Amino acid sequence: QAKLLGRDQIQVYSTAGAQKYSATHRLDRDFKRAIAQGEFYLVLQPVVSLDGGQMVAVEALVRWNHADHGELSPASFISDLEKSGQIVDLDIWVFGQALLLLKKFQSQTFVLNINISGQGLINADLLKVVRKARQIHGDQLSRLCVEVTESSLVDDVELAQSALRELQSFNISLAIDDFGTGYSSLSYLHKFSFDRLKIDRAFIVGLETSQEKAVILNTIVSLARALGIQTVAEGIEEIKQFELLAELGCDFGQGFLMSRPVAQNVLVKMLADDWRY
Ligand code: C2E
Ligand code: MG
Ligand code: MG
Ligand code: MG
Repeated sequence: QAKLLGRDQIQVYSTAGAQKYSATHRLDRDFKRAIAQGEFYLVLQPVVSLDGGQMVAVEALVRWNHADHGELSPASFISDLEKSGQIVDLDIWVFGQALLLLKKFQSQTFVLNINISGQGLINADLLKVVRKARQIHGDQLSRLCVEVTESSLVDDVELAQSALRELQSFNISLAIDDFGTGYSSLSYLHKFSFDRLKIDRAFIVGLETSQEKAVILNTIVSLARALGIQTVAEGIEEIKQFELLAELGCDFGQGFLMSRPVAQNVLVKMLADDWRY
């Protein structure tokens, strides 16, 4: 299956998705069609500084405009793609789109965050694509941040370590996503050298009324700071949460309060208007 990364750049071939047996033949067929016909697209959600509200990054989040079922959110298909192994092909597609976005927004300074699955991270095909991209877009990769969840790192910790180190050697920064929801959050902080830590929404919901959550958040933020890791709070919906997180010294925030994920043309407009929260 050929994937064109950028207009004039590189072409790579991936068979990763086909190697594992897909439990759902329908998804298998649908997925191939969707990739080929451009049914996937990315929406972009601003990440802002909690000290000033400037947009410092955007996270790219995948959506599937399914030919038969309409708009699908990742919750409805990511885990099936992980089971069939096709998630790797999605990861490669996302990475290719990220390069296009970096090119499109090359005059901007924001960091572009993408989500990569654990399987993708340690997959030889994806790493090949990244290595190639480095030869062509080397300077742009410093604006890319790869988000991985804790749970995606458990399968093969050593392989994941070497893959993440290689990404960092290309100046790609790394974020641990959904921090606090896995079962070895702390051990991962010392096994991997993350640049950013995204605190799961579970710790933000109800923060206004929970002294315990405030204490936990305070501890996470101090720990991260001591380790030289920046903190990002996910899923901020209330002004009070924003204010408390800023007081706790959390660096950045993302959530419906500031902005929902938006289409690319909307982001273009926001940037032109010097949008800030
Ligand atoms: P995530 O990476 O933790 O992304 C944050 C999710 O929280 C997004 O959901 C976002 O829309 C949602 N969110 C942001 N602010 C708020 C808020 O204030 N309140 C609430 N309730 N939700 C908020 P989304 O887009 O449905 O994505 C869900 C998950 O699917 C992501 O969680 C990520 O793990 C996965 N995912 C999304 N895009 C990709 C992708 O391109 N590749 C891979 N492998 N996984 C992806
Ligand atoms: Mg994420
Ligand atoms: Mg997250
Ligand atoms: Mg999440």
